[in-house]
Amino acid sequence: MSNLHFDTLIIGAGLSGIGTACHLMDEFPNRNLAILERRECMGGTWDLFRYPGIRSDSDMLSYGYKFRLWDSPKVLADGASIRRYIQDTAKQYGLADKIHYGLRTLSANWCSQQRLWQLTVLHEASGDIRHYTCRFLLCCTGYYNHDEGFLPAFPGENDFKGVRIHPQHWPEDLDYRDKNVVVIGSGATAATLIPAMADKTRHITMLQRSPSYIYSLPSTDKLTGVLSRIMPTSWALGLARKRNIMLYRAVYIACRQWPRLMRRIILAHVRRQVGPNADMRHFTPTYMPWDERLCAVPDGDLFKSIRNGQASVETDHIERFTEHGIRLKSGKELPADIIITATGLRLQLLGGMTVSVDGTPYPIGEQMTYKGVLLENLPNMAWIFGYTNVSWTLKVGLAATYLCRLFRYMEQRNLDVVTPYDNANNALSDGILNSMKSGYIQRDQHFLPRQGRSHPWFVFMHYGRDKKMLLKDPIEDHHLEFQRAQQQALTPRPAKVTG
Ligand SMILES: Cc1cc2nc3c(=O)[nH]c(=O)nc-3n(C[C@H](O)[C@H](O)[C@H](O)COP(=O)(O)OP(=O)(O)OC[C@H]3O[C@@H](n4cnc5c(N)ncnc54)[C@H](O)[C@@H]3O)c2cc1C
Repeated sequence: MSNLHFDTLIIGAGLSGIGTACHLMDEFPNRNLAILERRECMGGTWDLFRYPGIRSDSDMLSYGYKFRLWDSPKVLADGASIRRYIQDTAKQYGLADKIHYGLRTLSANWCSQQRLWQLTVLHEASGDIRHYTCRFLLCCTGYYNHDEGFLPAFPGENDFKGVRIHPQHWPEDLDYRDKNVVVIGSGATAATLIPAMADKTRHITMLQRSPSYIYSLPSTDKLTGVLSRIMPTSWALGLARKRNIMLYRAVYIACRQWPRLMRRIILAHVRRQVGPNADMRHFTPTYMPWDERLCAVPDGDLFKSIRNGQASVETDHIERFTEHGIRLKSGKELPADIIITATGLRLQLLGGMTVSVDGTPYPIGEQMTYKGVLLENLPNMAWIFGYTNVSWTLKVGLAATYLCRLFRYMEQRNLDVVTPYDNANNALSDGILNSMKSGYIQRDQHFLPRQGRSHPWFVFMHYGRDKKMLLKDPIEDHHLEFQRAQQQALTPRPAKVTG
């Protein structure tokens, strides 16, 4: 059995893994780095999801990388363009031959004696097990299970004679022309699918138990187009990115601070979009804005499909699936040739891999995260988890820059191991996303790291504060323990839970 050693291993070649690798390649071009990726190509989310209309619902200037600005006037981008953007970025930064595809990391064990991570990796196509070691392990595995989405059991589901699909596994050849389609769900996926399919289907219905907040965004950024005629394009894009970051943050803060006012504003906007005849009960959530992620639709495309009658919304509960559709609790029957269960994701951290220190398991759901980047008690390990209240990538950029600062600091002082420890019982029982009420987070939040009582264990989800903490605050503090190269290995502290 061969053992491949790298200084730094990144797990995952999605937006986070590629972004982090680019930062490292830029700062440390000679670092011996590799990326282990389970799929056969890069892109992560943007390679996996292939349903009609798949696109971002964040503006691409803040969702794209700061070091390679998105330069199309389109505010939201389709999945294929984002995938291409990730691939082009990787190529530009010389990452193509650093990615080892088809490899699923099953476990990572820190060996205190050898001061390195030992990884057990499965080559899924052949079933071969391979072994890798590295000094630093950076987990860029996203936050959900790529194998299966969330799929509740529906009474009578086996009686249904039509086609049933989960958007996470979209069949390439699905023909939905002139078919009656029911999409179960009210989130971003349903809001994307419906306008993308509506002009081909006989009719498409969004069936929701309860509504979500949906708002319309202009699909093109005209102001930036004008500005780039009077200044260098890079300046115009840079300004627009700052504007977008501030704007999204301001909306988020306003929603948390004045929820009733923001609710009125959003609902008035929806009313204008859907027209005076629409039943606003279908668009009026029971929760306050940003208790769950807001959902953006470009140029009100969803509302247009509803206005022109191609699509409709039902807010009701499912009594059962029938042979030819769905019976609702109200007694109404929805005819369906195709049922799409846009019922969401299943949370999964570290891509399902197990983590241990000298053979003792360290479940991530029992640890806190240090500055939202490193993991408590785990030597030389980072976990890149983006924002859920603004563009994911904004945090990826900050985290990767922080890691470069940390590596530089260690290099200059001949340090080779860093471990964050909590000495003051900072851990709360809440997970780091406790304030988000989205179903998939509430269902599985025990998988997430614990929220901490205070800095640096408290996860802000706040770009401005994180920027200061990660880019300006000194690297050294009393929560980080360093070991000098050649120094005798420290005895690891006991895991909180050994389960
Ligand atoms: C449909 C959809 C739309 C979204 N739109 C937005 C949006 O508009 N704005 C926003 O901010 N966020 C959005 N998100 C969230 C989105 O997932 C993140 O923005 C971002 O793409 C996550 O990137 P990532 O690289 O961290 O994770 P992923 O994209 O999930 O990639 C993780 C990679 O790690 C690999 N991997 C996982 N486990 C292992 C393992 N054990 N071994 C080896 N490889 C492994 C996977 O194969 C994958 O390639 C969306 C999510 C979905 C599902």
